[in-house]
Amino acid sequence: MVRQAPVIVAGCGPAGATLALYLARKDIPVLVLEREAVLPVDLRASTFHPPSLEMLNELGVAAPMIAKGLIVDRYQYRDRQTGEVAEFHMSLIADETLFPYRLQLEQYELTRIVARVLQGCPSAELRFAHEVTGFRQDADGVTVKVATPAGAKTVKGAYLVGADGASSRVRKAAGIGFGGFTYDEKFLVASTAFPFEEVFDDLSYVNYIADPQEWCVVLRTDKAWRVLWPTDPDHPNPESYLDENDLQERLHRLHDKEGPYRIRHRTLYDVHQRVAETYCQGRVALIGDACHINNPLGGMGMNGGLHDAWNLGGRLVEIFAGRATHQDSFGDYDRQRRELATRFVQQHTIDNKTLMESTDPNVQRNRQRDLMARAADSAKAKAFIMERAMMHCAWE
Ligand SMILES: Cc1cc2nc3c(=O)[nH]c(=O)nc-3n(C[C@H](O)[C@H](O)[C@H](O)COP(=O)(O)OP(=O)(O)OC[C@H]3O[C@@H](n4cnc5c(N)ncnc54)[C@H](O)[C@@H]3O)c2cc1C
Repeated sequence: MVRQAPVIVAGCGPAGATLALYLARKDIPVLVLEREAVLPVDLRASTFHPPSLEMLNELGVAAPMIAKGLIVDRYQYRDRQTGEVAEFHMSLIADETLFPYRLQLEQYELTRIVARVLQGCPSAELRFAHEVTGFRQDADGVTVKVATPAGAKTVKGAYLVGADGASSRVRKAAGIGFGGFTYDEKFLVASTAFPFEEVFDDLSYVNYIADPQEWCVVLRTDKAWRVLWPTDPDHPNPESYLDENDLQERLHRLHDKEGPYRIRHRTLYDVHQRVAETYCQGRVALIGDACHINNPLGGMGMNGGLHDAWNLGGRLVEIFAGRATHQDSFGDYDRQRRELATRFVQQHTIDNKTLMESTDPNVQRNRQRDLMARAADSAKAKAFIMERAMMHCAWE
């Protein structure tokens, strides 16, 4: 039997791994080319929303993730000045989803679990230390250029999916623009095992803390507490934000404990709002950060990438079965997912940031009152939770 040319997936991050698993579960040949020699273990996204968990459940990997992660069934918007708390209970959406909670789990746990499953799937192959550097395509397929420790080579496939992150070589090789903007300020993140839940009254595991002087996000992952702050865009030496003294001061402003915090991890990163001008070109498609990036407020970046993978996976199955053409189906994928990234994810994440960062105490007071009124009204609270959990847009 002649083996069909595979779908080549560039990148084994959350989006690429999920797409590969989707295809492997349907016996579609898939070849994942990952640039790194081992799966990257960087502390990035840590929130899985309910629709993502439903998709991962259908792919058979939700259970091991839930076993490793932290189930968070409520989240809070706190006002640091007044101490007021608006709390949203995710049990309000229990009639809408099998998973009425956010799962807090480092994204690398997902890729590790999926990679292990892929290695046992006969139609899937995962090659490490294979960096996609370019491609050619014609009416019959794609020829992908790859840099490996043994030198440059080419690999042939039926389709190429760029799941190679924000600096996507696939997107660049296709000449697809990545319009939008980069914020002037960077975001600073520090993680610590200090038990904040023991010193803040009734603290949930996900908290957005507004303050005209210094807002922050305080959330717990499966491993530690993580605090995210904005930084001053005009600071002459932003790298100094990573200094021990600076971070200790910030953490002590959050809670003035005795002695220094043990900081496990720190990072300072640029924040962008960008969407690719198209998600496909001929036999090539983009998913995840390769085609959309946004600020992390609300945890929509990685989740959006998983939803892309689900959408495109379903389309590739139809194309391989001869029930759809890639021209039509990739075009629909582009319209559906790009419109959603622009209208919903970009808008929400920009609004989330704008609301948190206002230095006007009146704006902050009104924001907190509005959130508390919503939280107290179960119909409004449910609508709020549904929207923030991406319940309506994930399956589009
Ligand atoms: C510091 C930081 C914090 C973040 N925090 C959050 C958060 O709290 N919530 C949230 O939702 N999102 C967050 N994000 C964004 C989130 O991490 C991304 O949305 C998510 O990782 C995107 O997944 P992906 O699979 O599309 O891309 P990536 O995770 O970037 O994976 C891309 C993969 O492709 C590989 N690769 C790259 N180039 C090539 C190539 N040429 N050939 C082959 N392989 C290649 C990479 O090694 C990697 O394995 C954060 C991002 C950063 C940088």
